[in-house]
Amino acid sequence: MKHKKLFIPGPVEVDSEVLKAMSTPMIGHRTAEYSELQRGVTEKLRKLMYTKNDIVISTSSGTGLLEMAIRNCTAKRAIVFSVGAFGNRWYQIAKSNGIPADKHEVEWGTPIKPEMVEEYLSTGNYDLATVTHNETSTGLMNNLEELAPVFNKYPDVVWCIDTVSSLGGVKIEVDRLGVDICVSSSQKALGLPPGLSVASVSEKAIERAEKVENRGYYFDMLLLLKYIRERNFQYPSTPSIAHMFALEFQLNRILKEGLDERFERHREMAERVRAWAKEYFDLFPVEEYASNTVTCIRNTRGISVKELSNELGQRGFQISNGYGSLKEKTFRIAHMAEMKMEDIDELLKNIEEILKL
Ligand SMILES: *Cc1c(COP(=O)(O)O)cnc(C)c1O
Repeated sequence: MKHKKLFIPGPVEVDSEVLKAMSTPMIGHRTAEYSELQRGVTEKLRKLMYTKNDIVISTSSGTGLLEMAIRNCTAKRAIVFSVGAFGNRWYQIAKSNGIPADKHEVEWGTPIKPEMVEEYLSTGNYDLATVTHNETSTGLMNNLEELAPVFNKYPDVVWCIDTVSSLGGVKIEVDRLGVDICVSSSQKALGLPPGLSVASVSEKAIERAEKVENRGYYFDMLLLLKYIRERNFQYPSTPSIAHMFALEFQLNRILKEGLDERFERHREMAERVRAWAKEYFDLFPVEEYASNTVTCIRNTRGISVKELSNELGQRGFQISNGYGSLKEKTFRIAHMAEMKMEDIDELLKNIEEILKL
């Protein structure tokens, strides 16, 4: 079957050199060579996240580390601030782990505002809070700058953010913002195959986990950290070493491109897609909070998104229908990882031809 270029919000197109790095011959996971690999990856991830915190790496998709965060660091009660499907997932994770949690869900396409956070945290009922930085189902990006001052007013609250579809495409200054746990996955703006996730964890988060008895096993944050700190950057079980090789290679490429340059490239692609969306359709989220990695377009022309996708597929492109109840009402174009403006222009030109816009 002909390969379709992926304009879906994960998995994304992966460069052939990165795929090649995945087929590097295996090394033992209890060797000095492996430790060196994980240590190097950790240092580069710290640069990408603008943090000095420990970096936990997991051979699971991002959902695994979302579970780690909420299960390991809630001693009292969690508050989930949800702006869409992935915010709701965080709440479901809490519930299915028996973690006391409440959810504040806003109308999809609108952001979390500081007043909402203040209203919940000021009750003193919560010791952990989650925010989806970039909500992939609605194409909305919460403004962390706006929210950080409120979270920083409450030193007993562990602040967790889901940057699964933004880390690597948008600047996220973990330490300056005061974020305690920042979770991301390999297959979105980081530009790797799915199957690996990463998280920065603060001292505050670690101290909290020490007070939580039932942390699970595979996602026991303290066990993961023990192998990092005491066993010199190793992993409790056998990690996906193939992913580690690819991550090492890809992070070198990201740093070589330059972080500011990379974020700027994402911003430019997003602006191009947003301008196009406004010309022919409309944006789904409030424009001020529209994402720089994925654009969710309101289907104001009543086109069949399914048919458009089929036609695009025949031409070698894949876009995404709306998520869940937003199917056919919206469609999504991702512009993340190694995508370039030429790729975006080519996709949009093909959509214009198919729809005779
Ligand atoms: C994709 C996505 C997830 C789920 O990540 P997996 O790696 O598939 O487990 C969670 N949150 C957001 C915002 C996402 O885009």
